[in-house]
Amino acid sequence: MMPNFFSFTSQQLSDKLEEMGERSFRAKQLFNWVYQKQQLNLQKMTSLSEDLRSKLADNISFKLPKIITGQVATDGTRKFLLQLQDANKIEMVLIPAAGKNTLCISSQVGCARNCRFCATAKMGLLRNLDVAEIISQVYLAKQQLGENKLTNLVFMGMGEPLDNYENMMQAVRILQDELAFKFSPRRITISTSGVVPGIAKLAVSGVKVKLAVSLNSAIQTKREYLMPISRKYSLTKLKQTLKKFQRYNPYRITFEYVLIKGFNMGKKDIKALRAFVGEISCKLNLIPWNPIAGSEFKSPTEVELNDFMKQLMDLRVALTVRRSRGTEIDAACGQLAAGS
Ligand code: SF4
Repeated sequence: MMPNFFSFTSQQLSDKLEEMGERSFRAKQLFNWVYQKQQLNLQKMTSLSEDLRSKLADNISFKLPKIITGQVATDGTRKFLLQLQDANKIEMVLIPAAGKNTLCISSQVGCARNCRFCATAKMGLLRNLDVAEIISQVYLAKQQLGENKLTNLVFMGMGEPLDNYENMMQAVRILQDELAFKFSPRRITISTSGVVPGIAKLAVSGVKVKLAVSLNSAIQTKREYLMPISRKYSLTKLKQTLKKFQRYNPYRITFEYVLIKGFNMGKKDIKALRAFVGEISCKLNLIPWNPIAGSEFKSPTEVELNDFMKQLMDLRVALTVRRSRGTEIDAACGQLAAGS
């Protein structure tokens, strides 16, 4: 199978072109056509010789997944269903808010982690996305945005990104490549359910990104109920590893905490949460539960949310509430499930 253009960093493409008997600076021209001029038609890349264009057509694929549907919510959130070459489907979500455009990227078709509150979990894991399939989402999102700038990326769509570690890391390298997307490390967030070995590896990888951890309970038994991964990687292990991560990475860690009425919002939950996050330089992002079909959970009322927040106000961590974006099109956190 031909390699896909969107799986190469500029250096790797330059090596590939040399292998094909071409001068390496052609990689820079090609990156310029594709990433700066948004041109994918080889025939229109007029600064490349005809001979090179035909060699490229024979050796490198420029195919993107197909957007099958796009839905827009009243708050402007856009959810896209993409069809991959093997007919599998994934979703990506574009969220405009506060002058920013954030893309929520999928890293797998489905997910193996089986979090109880998540629609993707119900699909099981079908397969990892390859590098080009991850990068294509960003490329397509930029096409959709036109003149508007894509400002932030979060690996928070379908899948556990640290379970697809190598492909996700190669994608991050391309996203940060000066000749490709040029994203600053602080604009890219990897969100994990708590894959401890992946966090440890990321810490020493030399690649800088922001890290978000889907916490949801700081009580071991409750977290195990919500997130089976916690049976394998306990809260104690998670905390140790996050502290290690912070020794290598300059950014504060974000903890995501989905607020579930009557489950993780009581006095004991708050006490445990304070103890867990208190020793880590972090932000705490509270997310009122977004309903999914057939779920046992309920969303908190506004009064319950405010009461919960009040009890955390004196903590020295930045506290934010993520209001549901795109709920009515099932594009909010935990609601992605291709084909729904
Ligand atoms: S919340 Fe994330 S890690 Fe958990 S099942 Fe859903 S996609 Fe996977």
